[in-house]
Amino acid sequence: MKLTTVSVIRCPEYDRAQLRRALREALAPLPPESWHRPPGATVLLKPNLLSSHDTPEAAVNTHPEFVRAVAEIFLEQRCRVIIGDSCGSLSPGSTAQAIRTTGLDKVAADLGVELADFDRAPAEEIPIPEGKVLKRLRLPKLLRDVDLLVTLPKFKTHGLTLLTGAVKNQLGLVAGNGKKEVHRSAPHPREIARAMVDLYSVVRPGVAIMDAVVGMEGNGPAGGSARKAGLVLASADCVALDAVAADLMGCKPGVVLTTRFADESGLGVGRLDQIEVVGAPLDQIRIPDWRKPPPFVRSLLFTLLPDWFVRWAYNVVGGACASVMDDRCILCGECVANCPAKAFREVGGRLKVEQSLCISCYCCSEVCKNRAILMRRPIAGRIVHGVYHLAAGRRMKK
Ligand code: SF4
Ligand code: SF4
Repeated sequence: MKLTTVSVIRCPEYDRAQLRRALREALAPLPPESWHRPPGATVLLKPNLLSSHDTPEAAVNTHPEFVRAVAEIFLEQRCRVIIGDSCGSLSPGSTAQAIRTTGLDKVAADLGVELADFDRAPAEEIPIPEGKVLKRLRLPKLLRDVDLLVTLPKFKTHGLTLLTGAVKNQLGLVAGNGKKEVHRSAPHPREIARAMVDLYSVVRPGVAIMDAVVGMEGNGPAGGSARKAGLVLASADCVALDAVAADLMGCKPGVVLTTRFADESGLGVGRLDQIEVVGAPLDQIRIPDWRKPPPFVRSLLFTLLPDWFVRWAYNVVGGACASVMDDRCILCGECVANCPAKAFREVGGRLKVEQSLCISCYCCSEVCKNRAILMRRPIAGRIVHGVYHLAAGRRMKK
């Protein structure tokens, strides 16, 4: 059986020399065609620039020193390097602000590479012939001129998809309102996972390199806690890379639906027994107590049951609705501007969420600078989770 390779290399700090060594070790075992390009070729680096307001220490975005070290590898090949993304906020100017807050503007200036703000770049509609949820998407025209797309995800949890990894990282190529449309067409975890795989079926990076030096655990992708994993992961197969990342976080095989659906569609290898891991042995570096997003019976519901049942069950017990914590909210309006479901109402000078409209997309929680959004489950969901916790606790004690 042909194995796909994922490199997992130790890298304890964002120190330039350590990053350079780790990246070289991570890329060396991969097929040369996945990351070697001739002089003059155009290479697009796609970091995860989710937040426009978090500094690198928050571990929400791919660290600028990581992006710098990757850019240097392609500059040494004498390629034209572009760093591009569209951040999670839909407010005008947010990607430009994210570039400044993260420090990518300085990286680009130091190295003399270009920056692309996909909120402003010309875009075109691309059909998705095999799409299960998405049939077309507006994507940057720049992709046509790119000889190599390098995706640079962050090692983070995600409340909807459990892991926000290499397959999902391409969502940042969809500018502004296009992301709202994706969430509107795919309000449930299973559908959003299929939508991410639809996108991946038409935009396939040549290589994925994951920043797992410091990742995020808990309530990711923006509201969790930074935690050191001390690793760099790389693969020519985004699906395989995500499978290994999920395993490192202590997730059971098959629970990350983007990985499972992409594997079933033949877009990559999501089964660990078909992946050759080189570098650090997984048994020595796995972090099983990496905190997952607020728990859900997702492993049972989302992986075994039919779509219609999952949708019903999600509405009844699983879907976390947003609510605003008045004592933290400064009424900046970011959440209102970014809500694809138009679920926010102003009542008596305060913001409220119309629970029946909320599609649990987490967009408001991702953009709120004051962490004033609480994702709360309906009472039935909390009872189910309480029982789940109790059972999990008993199992741990045995
Ligand atoms: S909840 Fe957050 S994003 Fe929304 S208005 Fe309040 S502070 Fe702004
Ligand atoms: S209220 Fe928040 S979680 Fe609910 S649909 Fe709007 S942006 Fe998404």
